[in-house]
Amino acid sequence: MRRVIIAGNWKMHKTISEAISLVTLLKRSSYQQENIDIAVCPPFTALGEVSEALNGSNVMLGAQDVYWESQGAYTGEISPLMLKDIGCKFVIVGHSERRNYFNETNEVVNKKAKAALAVGLCPIICVGERLEQREGGKTFEVVRDHIENSLTGLNKQEILNTVIAYEPVWAIGTGRTATPEQAQEVHSFIRRLLEERYDKDIGQAVRIQYGGSVKSDNIANLIVKEDIDGALVGGASLDAEKFIQIIKGAEGGVK
Ligand code: PEP
Repeated sequence: MRRVIIAGNWKMHKTISEAISLVTLLKRSSYQQENIDIAVCPPFTALGEVSEALNGSNVMLGAQDVYWESQGAYTGEISPLMLKDIGCKFVIVGHSERRNYFNETNEVVNKKAKAALAVGLCPIICVGERLEQREGGKTFEVVRDHIENSLTGLNKQEILNTVIAYEPVWAIGTGRTATPEQAQEVHSFIRRLLEERYDKDIGQAVRIQYGGSVKSDNIANLIVKEDIDGALVGGASLDAEKFIQIIKGAEGGVK
């Protein structure tokens, strides 16, 4: 059985006080969602206070990025151990904004994922094609490349502690969601790749989230699809009520 996981990627939004207001609202209404994993990924500056504010709630904490070294002269970087220390359970790696604006390659994503796993963090590894790649019929080729090369060297236990997020770049922040059928087609492809790479049971156990303009009015149709196990939510996670509605909408996807 795969537990549904809904995670909010706040990107570069929210001061500390805004972050606390959001999670305070979220905490109040999320106790009921016992069969859904819920996580928020604030910017680094708010992680400490949000971690404290989430104490005693079922909402988990994640970060949006991490460096792969454990410590040292890497000005501006944050280590996996630091994220663990502040209370994170998850860390997003290889988001398309990092791949595109900060030139992150699969090799970098792989190093970050391995470093996160080494301290017991669950990496949310993002994969997905750009619009011209989809239109050029290259979706599966791109997704295969992202999966194969971002997961290099991850053993069976490590992949079981990893979440994959399929995020078609053309759907991120555009209001243009993939149809449930388009998303399911790629999710099932990713699951097959995992089955081939590891084994059938492992392929069946790894959670694959969809991300790209997920809202309260489209989550229900996405989450019922066989291989869609949750959502990575950007814009709509910045508003407590919208995020709560998405969590509620995902209940129908508990399989
Ligand atoms: C994201 O940032 O991962 C994302 C999916 O954003 P949005 O929901 O705004 O499209």
